[in-house]
Amino acid sequence: MEIKKGIAVSPGIAIARPLVIDSEEYRIPRRSIMPSEKPSEVRRVRQAFKSATDELTGLEQAQHIEEGQIKDIFAVHLRFLRDRSLRKKITDMISSELLTAEYAVSTVLRDIADHFTKVIDTYISERAADIYDIEKRLLKHLLGKKREDVEHLNKEVVIVAHELSPTQTAGFDKEFIKGFATEAGGRTSHTAIVARSLGIPAVVAIEDLTSSIRPGQTVIIDGNKGVVVIEPDEATIKQYEQLKRDFIILEHKLDGIRKLDAVTRDGVHIDLFGNIEFPDEAKLILEKGGKGIGLYRTEFLYLYSGTEPTEDDHYQAYVEVIKTMKGLPVVIRTLDLGADKYTQSKRFVKETNPYLGLRSIRFCLQNIMMFKTQLRAILRASVLGDVRIMFPLITNLQELRQAKMILRDVMEDLAEDGIKYNPNMPIGIMIETPSAALTSAILARDSDFFSIGTNDLVQYTLAVDRGNELVSTMYSAGDPAVLMLLKNVILDAHKAKISLSVCGEMASEPEFVMLLIGMGVRNMSIAPSMIPEIKQVIRSVTVESCNSIARKVLTMDSRRQVTNYLRDAAINVLPEVF
Ligand code: PEP
Ligand code: MG
Repeated sequence: MEIKKGIAVSPGIAIARPLVIDSEEYRIPRRSIMPSEKPSEVRRVRQAFKSATDELTGLEQAQHIEEGQIKDIFAVHLRFLRDRSLRKKITDMISSELLTAEYAVSTVLRDIADHFTKVIDTYISERAADIYDIEKRLLKHLLGKKREDVEHLNKEVVIVAHELSPTQTAGFDKEFIKGFATEAGGRTSHTAIVARSLGIPAVVAIEDLTSSIRPGQTVIIDGNKGVVVIEPDEATIKQYEQLKRDFIILEHKLDGIRKLDAVTRDGVHIDLFGNIEFPDEAKLILEKGGKGIGLYRTEFLYLYSGTEPTEDDHYQAYVEVIKTMKGLPVVIRTLDLGADKYTQSKRFVKETNPYLGLRSIRFCLQNIMMFKTQLRAILRASVLGDVRIMFPLITNLQELRQAKMILRDVMEDLAEDGIKYNPNMPIGIMIETPSAALTSAILARDSDFFSIGTNDLVQYTLAVDRGNELVSTMYSAGDPAVLMLLKNVILDAHKAKISLSVCGEMASEPEFVMLLIGMGVRNMSIAPSMIPEIKQVIRSVTVESCNSIARKVLTMDSRRQVTNYLRDAAINVLPEVF
């Protein structure tokens, strides 16, 4: 039995056999197989060689590829792939050392490449690049099969990987995928956010995870404590099965309060909204007792479909959401593409620093046709309910005014076409950069509402990548620098008399809820699955006690002091949640 610690990102407990998803991008870890699996691994190698050879033969014969250097390269690669001794070396390694096909392919080919690099003759040493190419091609075929397996599962598994993209995670079949654990990632990475919205237990940032897992083992994923147990003994399995039952009972108990208001013990109402990525999540907000949608991350529509959505694709998605919400507020955030949210890499110029690059509203302002397509759909849908629009990652007034000008252009086009829209649709912005937080008094004059995106605000304030496990301990919404910015924004929104909400993950964390209330926040938008728990926290506190917590915390000078204090305060109020 081995216990590994990571970051808990989505609550719940899963116990199942692991399915490891490797990636060509990362070194394949050494992983053993059972003796009974030898024949199937050898078969996989044979099949990968065959597929790679067929693929290269097709390319070599393709009409559009001219005679010359490229054809010669293909011929060299084909000679390697047809070399029986190479394949034998790989299958011998599988049979004698009981290792996976991927590991054997990668190790044998890298050994050969190493020998090549050491040869003084540059013609030969440069051939190492060809060997790496062949390795990648073979791995693509080996791993491609695994990816198909993920899409056609027929038994329950937990997914284990170095890294998963938000889109990959969004495609998980919940019926069979009971949880996941990765080596990369952080609490507010979009993969973690998708895990919470799917409601599957997940743990990220676990060192050397994929190399520690053997097929056929049992794996426990504890998304409450951030722990992964590999090959647990009988007593541990029993203990976790009990914890799983307790967790389900607690969830049912919390669901019992869904019809009750989110009101503090001294009678102050807090508006609790839900964040969604996909239209079908809207009903979950109602089931869990939320009062509307505070953040609809519309870029998932874009990422999921593989092609650029048409105006009608946008419109249909918004109609579905608005109809489900039956008159409750729906805040539609315009496309927040870029950073960790793009799969259509061919459409974008590769950036060295994507979080500081052409992301979000900046991307929309440079792709006006795409932006206008979405704005038209939002405006058309605006007559169907209480629809509000929100621009992400605003960093200055000029950007906001530009976005509003484009919105007005689209309104004029619709008016000319005789299409109805709501001319008074509220226009808000996300405060998620230090520049926006520091100039919130200026931005408030041109905004109908603010929503604080703490996920990005923490990342940009502390210069800590929200998805990078190497610096995840430095990522905290409790940092005094973040709290000073929050204080400023809340004050400016109150002065300008515009509504303010917090829609970052900070509001989903029970220990921060009391602080936010004490700082004057009365509106929060959180993962739908977290609504009952946060409602319970709200119903257990008084505003007076929250005010005193905030007063105390705002005098503290370190992140650790703040988080320890808030945790103790939350445990006092709600021991069963912790
Ligand atoms: C945020 O940054 O806090 C936010 C809510 O937006 P996203 O997580 O989609 O970047
Ligand atoms: Mg954000």
